[in-house]
Amino acid sequence: MACFCFLVDQTRQMRQCKPVAGLCSRCGGGASVADMKTATRFCHVPFYWKSWKAIMCTFCGAILKTYH
Ligand SMILES: [Zn+2]
Repeated sequence: MACFCFLVDQTRQMRQCKPVAGLCSRCGGGASVADMKTATRFCHVPFYWKSWKAIMCTFCGAILKTYH
């Protein structure tokens, strides 16, 4: 099973985002709420998806808060 972890990877995708009141704690940029989707892939074939929401900075991309 030693090589198993090399075959599995995750990709994160932002599906849509809307500006929301709040400022980034890192750069002071505007925050937005984003619908995210994480796909877990095995040998580059997605087999598991997870949707989640996050408040993130539109300027530097920092994730300020997540909702699972
Ligand atoms: Zn920022």
